[in-house]
Order: sequence, then structure tokens, then C-alpha cells
Amino acid sequence: MLLSLRCRLAGISLLIISAVLASVSRAEEAAPSSGELTQPAVAGTPANANDETPATGPAFEIVTLRDGLQVLLGGGGNTAVWSGADGVVLVDDKLGSVTAELLETVNRIAPGGIRFVINTHWHSDHTGANEPIGRSGGVIIAHENVRARMSSDQFIAVMQRQVPASDPAALPIVTFADAVTMYLNGDRLDVIHLADAHTDGDAVLWWRDANIVHVGDIFRNGSYPYIDTSSGGSLAGLVAALEVVLARADERTVIIPGHGPIATRADLAAYRDMVVEIGRKVREMIEQGRSLEEILAAGPAADYDEQYAGSFMPAEMFIGILYEDLTSRPPGP
Ligand SMILES: [Zn+2]
Repeated sequence: MLLSLRCRLAGISLLIISAVLASVSRAEEAAPSSGELTQPAVAGTPANANDETPATGPAFEIVTLRDGLQVLLGGGGNTAVWSGADGVVLVDDKLGSVTAELLETVNRIAPGGIRFVINTHWHSDHTGANEPIGRSGGVIIAHENVRARMSSDQFIAVMQRQVPASDPAALPIVTFADAVTMYLNGDRLDVIHLADAHTDGDAVLWWRDANIVHVGDIFRNGSYPYIDTSSGGSLAGLVAALEVVLARADERTVIIPGHGPIATRADLAAYRDMVVEIGRKVREMIEQGRSLEEILAAGPAADYDEQYAGSFMPAEMFIGILYEDLTSRPPGP
């Protein structure tokens, strides 16, 4: 009885998520992205067909955080370009559809070739230029689960998206389990794995002297979070990861989110509060025996929609993900 109820509920929630997704896809097709970053998509191939982020086109907003550390906003996940006497290091390398522009931009900022790429996780809007950079001798570094997922076909259930295995040249050739530290360009970079948050291979990267951190997709600034439960992500892991970053950050820390503008600790704390509050409400309603439809009707995210709802992650989709996550695991302590 319990099993059949669970299956029935899961079926309903998947249908609702699919319906939301279908409407989002239609909206994106109907309304080209606006703003200065807009460029025509590559003819015949929707640029976002295999990526979690709609392509904004091959143009980046370049933000200089300090000498030798720029962030390229747009075209997929935010890319950090760290350069100096010891070479050029990228953190994430965007959608494959914008690789040419990315490499040209990096070469303009810091000529001389890319020595290292560190991927914050395996999603293809953060690993899109791995293959050409790997072929040209760049060393790709990531958590061991990033290599494992990129090595085999993946299916992201919430996006209903098949992602084929990557070319071997795109795979990380140096992996780590918990952490790795790099001493380069006059600073020290702490690369730290945070388990089962956005995915099961997330890393956050701290420039120790500069007090700057790239947190990858555990933080989508201005959007509800995307928890990729098919890739091992979870609400509990996401909250724990945000707490780890908040515990180390101070009011001067510069936070590079996976997507969206550069942020402060206060922005991240507000984001954590939002995730915790909506997660708590959804969990309580599940414990009261409410269905996903009833939870959606109750609007547990209504207070936050103005700040965080968007076409990529509408509230209904975020709540659907939370529902799936919380009903697919045994109750916590
Ligand atoms: Zn991602």
C-alpha cells in the first residue's frame, strides 16, 4: 500500500514537473533572451539542447575582481580566469556552443595558453570547453565523481535530458576525493568537495589571500536552486554546503556564484535562509500527508517568488524537486 502510494505520488509529481518544463521550453522558444549578451544561436542547433542554462550568446561580461582574477559572466556558468607568473587557470569553461569566444576572450585577458581547468561539477554548461583545452595540453582537475559522470551516459530526470558520455579528452585527468590545494600566481587556492549538494561532485574554490570564493552551482544568485537529484544532489547536502561556505566567509568575502552576478556573504545568507524556509515548509506538509498538488496550491515559496522565481527554475519546479528529494529518502533525525 505504501509502495503503491509512493509510486502514484511520484508519478503525479513527475507529470507536473514535465508540464512546467514544457511551458518553460515554449517560453524560451517564443521569447529570445534580451539584453546586451544576446547573440544569434548557432544555426540549426539550439545552443541549450544539452545544457542547464539557456545560452546567452558568445559574449561575456568581464568583471575584474583584482589583478589577475577576472570573472566572465554569461554563456553558461560563470568562469573565473586566474592568471599570473605561473600561468592561466580557469574555473569552469561554459557551454560548448561558446567555446571559440571563451578561448579568444581568455587569450585576450591572459595570453599564453591555459595551464589548468578546474570544474566545479560535471554539468555541460560548466565543462563545455574541456575537450579542446584538454587536447591542447591543459590539465583538467575535478572531483572524482565529475570524471565518473562525464565518462558515462547520464540522464537528468528533472530536466528530462539525456547527456551522452564526454570525449575522453574532455575528462578530468587529475581527480580528488576531499580536497586539493594549488599554490600558484602568488596565492593559494583551496579546492574543497562538498557532498551531495547541487550534484555529488561539487567543489568550491577559495583564493585564500584574496578572500574570494567560486561556489559553483550550490548558489544560483537570483534564482531558486537547482538540485540535480539524478546526479546525487539533495536538499540536506545543499544546505550543509551553504553552511560550510558561510562559516568561512566574512563580510569582505567576494562570492562568485555558479550563475548570476557577483555576491556577498549577506546575499548567500539570504539565499540559505530561503532554501531552509521553503524546505522546512515542504517537509512539514509532506509529514502532514499532503500531496504535491496540495503543497503547490499552498504556495510555500510565495514570499520569495519576486526575488528568486525565473524561467529556468520556477517555484513549482523547485518545490517538485524538493518533494521528490524528501519523499525518496528516509526521514532525517
Ligand atoms: Zn549545474
